[in-house]
Amino acid sequence: MSKLHIYNTLSGKKEEFKSIIDNHVGMYVCGPTVYSDVHIGNVRTFLSFDIVYRYLKYLGYSVRYVRNITDVGHLLNDADSGEDKIGKQAKLLNLEPMEVVQHYTNGFHDVMKAYNITPPSIEPSATGHLIEQIELVQEIIDQGFAYEAGGSVYFDVKKYNESHHYGKLSGRKIEDLLSNTRELDGQSEKRNPLDFAIWKNADESHIMRWNSPWGEGFPGWHLECTVMSTKYLGDTFDIHGGGMDLKFPHHECEIAQSKAGGKSDPANYWMHTNMLTMNGAKMSKSVGNVVSIEELKTGNHDLLEKGFSENVIRFFILQSHYSSTLDISSSALSASEKGCEKLMKAMETLKELKTSESSTVDVTALQEKCVTSMNDDFNTPILIAHLFDGVKMINGIAADKETITEIDLAQLTKTMNDFVVDVLGLKATTKTVSQDSVTEELMQLFIQLRKEAKDNKNFALADEIRNKLTSLSIELKDSREGTTWEKN
Ligand code: AMP
Ligand code: ZN
Repeated sequence: MSKLHIYNTLSGKKEEFKSIIDNHVGMYVCGPTVYSDVHIGNVRTFLSFDIVYRYLKYLGYSVRYVRNITDVGHLLNDADSGEDKIGKQAKLLNLEPMEVVQHYTNGFHDVMKAYNITPPSIEPSATGHLIEQIELVQEIIDQGFAYEAGGSVYFDVKKYNESHHYGKLSGRKIEDLLSNTRELDGQSEKRNPLDFAIWKNADESHIMRWNSPWGEGFPGWHLECTVMSTKYLGDTFDIHGGGMDLKFPHHECEIAQSKAGGKSDPANYWMHTNMLTMNGAKMSKSVGNVVSIEELKTGNHDLLEKGFSENVIRFFILQSHYSSTLDISSSALSASEKGCEKLMKAMETLKELKTSESSTVDVTALQEKCVTSMNDDFNTPILIAHLFDGVKMINGIAADKETITEIDLAQLTKTMNDFVVDVLGLKATTKTVSQDSVTEELMQLFIQLRKEAKDNKNFALADEIRNKLTSLSIELKDSREGTTWEKN
């Protein structure tokens, strides 16, 4: 049988996966910056690594999965200076930064739960690891790869590249990078425009600040992940993941920091997920072309004709390979809904199949094909195609066109459950319609009935509808544009 192969960004090849310690895997994935609600693009990335985690478990590995929370140091435009994304939101809402962090962390967890995404083994936050970050900054200075300027500490990329390879992950050449960056205007403290901050001096506008040997400041975004990954997984661990947009500079800098701090290459396998797009453009908070989790549920978005359940959206995302772009659209989601329903109906039928003396179906081949597809760099679309061979089998047996023995039925049931429920993480439910979308439709029906009652001068009925809804804490709001509703 085939062995697990992973496309490793570091080598640009699919490689056989060998864990550092037998039967154990250490995996780190860059988590969200908790300054606003996660969107479905973010979900795609975390879902892709959920599949990696689930499949490694299926193969019998024990996995230590670390996914961080970035709660400081991620500046606007992923830049090296300017406002902190969380600090900005805190000022805007007149909240403590940690209130912003807690609010969006809770929201993130709710979304992960709704999408049946397994929680990580450890979820460290950057602000919880300030001491370790200061220590690493000092270590990099001691090794001669960073310098202090104006209370900030910068990583010396040119110096590092003399003895190491900056660009080994992203394939970027330092000469090209240099010629593409504008000359410093003399105002900057950096020796070279490519240098990046590993510790940043907090000017007066920065509300998130800590004492350090270099004065009051805060850690660099790239540094956080180096510290949190190696603290819990060791200097070198098995898999490091994140979205493609993090490959450069974030992950490139992570490698440089680890090596400059006297450690080895942090991860053996680097995995990058491709972007979820909308009308061909990357879905992104900063661009603003975002479909929120709520809108997907209710269908309350220009792109959508109706709402979809999390199970359907999960199925939709898994119908494409994590390394391909995926464009979200109402028609694609509707097609996935039909596919998901068919698969889930077959899961129900499977429970009621009758057995025979002999089998006309090959369940062993089906199981092997499922394993082979996942061993090929977690190829979920191919896996789903094989699961539909299983659906055909199930429906054939139910229609007495095929037969199956008791032993084979046990194996078929195990294969379908293993891959549909455990590996793909789909909920075996035939209810694919979003509950929220049902609520919305019902509410629109009540609003319409009340309007008709009013138009017919049946005010008693109109009032009864309103009062009944009020007793359910649902408030109707009339305006010139029509009636909307709100749950209090
Ligand atoms: P952020 O909170 O912006 O740091 O993003 C959290 C994770 O979501 C990162 O791994 C990003 O690469 C990933 N991500 C952001 N936008 C998208 C998108 N449109 N499609 C897939 N992944 C994304
Ligand atoms: Zn990171």
